[in-house]
Amino acid sequence: MSELDNLYQEVVMDHGSNPRNMGPVNGAQKSAHGFNPFCGDLFDIEIRVENDTIADVGFTGKGCAISRASVSLMTEAVKGGTEAEAQELFTAFHSMIMADESIFEFEDELLGDVSALRGVSAYPTRIKCAILGWRTLVAALSGESQGKTISTE
Ligand code: ZN
Repeated sequence: MSELDNLYQEVVMDHGSNPRNMGPVNGAQKSAHGFNPFCGDLFDIEIRVENDTIADVGFTGKGCAISRASVSLMTEAVKGGTEAEAQELFTAFHSMIMADESIFEFEDELLGDVSALRGVSAYPTRIKCAILGWRTLVAALSGESQGKTISTE
């Protein structure tokens, strides 16, 4: 394994065992419920938006280490940014995890620590675990998910 792979793995393990932004969000206006039936990962995501900026984002629920690491890295990446920036990050994350190599370099700049999850793209059954938190975030932002479950199916 290369040094970079080791570094990536450390970041993923750190976030998987000690997820950031875990817990409900005070004064959240947006939320969504996500479920990955392939693994049993289950997250609720809550967001408080102030002046077009994601002032706070948090998650509750349970999932495997990959899903926890991904949702944790996601909350750190989008917090403090605009909703449009969060959408952009989702697009970049999605192409990384789906291994669309044409824009890898561009993504690394944009994604920062989230790039640590790129190794997951080699494991099709794990991709859904990694994508769950992001898909649930995007659904929450769109506001069209009230009362519905966002599934990775
Ligand atoms: Zn999982």
